[in-house]
Amino acid sequence: KTTQKLQSRPVPRIDARHVLHPWADLSSLGTQDALVIHSAKGVRVRDSAGKSYLDAIGGMWCMTLGYGREELAEAMADQARQMAYYTPFGDVSSEPAARLAEKLAKLSPGDLNRVHFTTCGSTAVESAIRIAQYHFAAQGQPQRRHVLSRINAYHGGTYLTQSLSGKSADRTLFHYEAEFVHHLSSPGYDPDRSNISAEAKLQELLSEMEAEIARIGPENIACFIAEPIMASGGVLTPPEGYQKATCDLCHKYGILYISDEVVTGFGRLGYFFASDVRFGLAPDMIITAKGLSSGYQPLGAVLISDRIATALARNAPADKPVFSNGFTYSGHPVACAVALANIEIMERENICGHVRDVGPYFIDKLRALRGKDIVYTVRGDHLMACVECWTGEEVGPTAANMALAQRVDSYCQEAGLLVRPYENLCILSPPLIITRSDIDRIVAILSEALDRAE
Ligand code: PLP
Repeated sequence: KTTQKLQSRPVPRIDARHVLHPWADLSSLGTQDALVIHSAKGVRVRDSAGKSYLDAIGGMWCMTLGYGREELAEAMADQARQMAYYTPFGDVSSEPAARLAEKLAKLSPGDLNRVHFTTCGSTAVESAIRIAQYHFAAQGQPQRRHVLSRINAYHGGTYLTQSLSGKSADRTLFHYEAEFVHHLSSPGYDPDRSNISAEAKLQELLSEMEAEIARIGPENIACFIAEPIMASGGVLTPPEGYQKATCDLCHKYGILYISDEVVTGFGRLGYFFASDVRFGLAPDMIITAKGLSSGYQPLGAVLISDRIATALARNAPADKPVFSNGFTYSGHPVACAVALANIEIMERENICGHVRDVGPYFIDKLRALRGKDIVYTVRGDHLMACVECWTGEEVGPTAANMALAQRVDSYCQEAGLLVRPYENLCILSPPLIITRSDIDRIVAILSEALDRAE
């Protein structure tokens, strides 16, 4: 292993030899060279061999302002020079964290004025569940710790957040915490492909939820966690009115409602937070991450209502008042500095307004692909969408349908477009700065790939 020998190995080989990637395909571990992304600008990324791709994934739903923003790079560098890190524990803080918390309190709905920073979406979700359980335990209701989630949800990659998630494809040989997590049916409703009305579907989902609350006992349930529109589970949109009706149902029984806006927040649906404006929700907590820092730094946050924050302080045990939750890098100063700069740019450039403008165009263009033989359906909302493939026989993630999506993905990649294959779906979540002409380019390449994959 001489230094010279190591340096001469191509990076994709080195990676194949040494890295175990998140969500790696274990059947090709060590044999499949990685696609190494080397540089990026705007909505385009370039691999280590110099090939350019239009990034219709937005990194992983997170590169909202696009790549290579000098202002964001400067904000990180300035903060790193001034004070890269100090502990956030106890009563110690940093200026960027305090200022970002104040800004988030202004941008978020209702009385969500207290911010608990974390390191990413998973740690924020996990923290929110712990806060909900602590909240009730501190009020003398320790049995109130059960959590409602849904099939097809995705809430993260830690032990608890994977237990909350409900994607069957991820349910492999790992263990899951099933004892206090309960999954309701997936709320996805596709008017083009459903044989019942949206109203009937809504009633079905609400009846199931109320029956499940009764079965577990409302006095045992701490919270319900939900993405307003399911992202990684396959861009699944519930029937009209579902989000608000489930929130009302929770509040009827004193159950806390946690809105997971890791994907839907920070502009992807045209607003900083979609919960209130788009869906009429009054959540007790909102989770944010990804677009919060435009993907430039790992960062997550739980936005907590004043009501809960006050109760936490009032009810904490007098002899042990420590809130034992948090991480070394919770609200890292460099991450908070870039999040502040991100919000400044989003406001200055009216990024949310831009998404409200191009979002419907993106969805309309994609929906024009529905006529193709291998397209079962196209669904989405503003800048989150997916194309579902099928051979024309069985619907869903059958081996044949998944092979089709894989072929579409390879053809897109060959033609310089990155979409995200998941089971038999091609998921699209471009950077929010995407223009109409780049949308045309995405759809043109995808259209050709769908024709070739047939
Ligand atoms: N919640 C939702 C809705 C997500 O889509 C994700 C990630 O995709 C997470 C939570 C977890 O976020 P992270 O990967 O930053 O831990």
